[in-house]
Amino acid sequence: TSFVVSCAPVDMGPDRGVMVSFEDMTHLEEAGQMRRDFVANVSHELRTPLTSLLGFIETLQGPARDDPAAAQRFLGIMQGEAARMERLVRDLLSLSRVEAEERVRPNALVDLVATLRAVSHALRPLAAEAGVDIALDLPETPVHVPADADQLAQVVSNLVENAVKYGGAGKRVELGLAIHDEDPHLRGPAAVITVRDHGAGFDPVHVPRLTERFYRIDNHRSRQMGGTGLGLAIVKHIVNRHRGRLRISSTPGQGSEFRVILPQERPS
Ligand code: ADP
Repeated sequence: TSFVVSCAPVDMGPDRGVMVSFEDMTHLEEAGQMRRDFVANVSHELRTPLTSLLGFIETLQGPARDDPAAAQRFLGIMQGEAARMERLVRDLLSLSRVEAEERVRPNALVDLVATLRAVSHALRPLAAEAGVDIALDLPETPVHVPADADQLAQVVSNLVENAVKYGGAGKRVELGLAIHDEDPHLRGPAAVITVRDHGAGFDPVHVPRLTERFYRIDNHRSRQMGGTGLGLAIVKHIVNRHRGRLRISSTPGQGSEFRVILPQERPS
C-alpha cells in the first residue's frame, strides 16, 4: 500500500492549523507496474523472433551463401518467425482496439446461430489440418443478442482455435449454443456459447490467470502452436464489453470447456 501525504497551513479566522491529507495511490502504482510488465513482455516477445531473424540473415550472407539447400531451409524458418511477429502485432492491435471500445455498449442485433456457423466454416481447414472435427449443436431458429458482430466472431474464433490447437488430433471439438430463460450468472435471459474439447486439459488452479496477457500454461507448447498468449485476454475484454461472463472449467486428462454467457434482450 502506498500513500501520498500532504500538509497545508489553514487559516480560518481565529482557528489556525494544518490540514493533513492522505491519498491512497496503491491502484495507480499497480496500474503503472502492470504497464511496465506489459511493455517488458511485448519487448521480449518481439525480440526473440527478431534475434532469430538477424542470426539467419547473417548466416545467409556468410556461411550459407553458396549452399542453396541450406538457404532454402533458413528462409522457411525466417518466414515462420516473421509470421509470428505479424500475429503478435495483429493481436496487440486487436487488444488495444477492444480496450478502447470497452465502455461503449454494442447495440446491433446479431444472430449467434449465423455467427457460430460462419466461424466453424472458416476454421474447417485449420481443424482438418489438425485432424479435428468441429461438431455443431445449434438451435434451428436465429438467436439474437445485442452485440458487435466482428468482435463476437473473434471470441468464438479464438476459443475454437484454442480447442483445436490444444484438443489433440483425432478428438472432436464441440461448439454449441443454448438459451437460458433465467441465467443464474446474469439474472436474466442469456445466450450461452459452449466450446468443449477432449484434449489434455489443465489444472483448474490456472483458471484465474488464464485471461492475463501472455499467461501460458505451457510456454513451449503455446509457441510451438503459434500462439501469441493474447487470445484469451482479447476474449475477456470483448465479453466484458458485452456485459457477459466467461466461465472456464477443465479436467486434466479429459478436456476443457469455455462458456460465454451473453445477456439476451427480452423480446418486446
Ligand atoms: P495462446 O496464444 O498461447 O494460445 P491464449 O490466451 O489463447 O494464448 O491462451 C492462454 C493459455 O491458455 C494457452 O497458452 C494454453 O496454455 C491455455 N489454453 C487455452 N485454451 C486451452 C484449451 N482449450 N486447452 C488447454 N489449454 C488451453
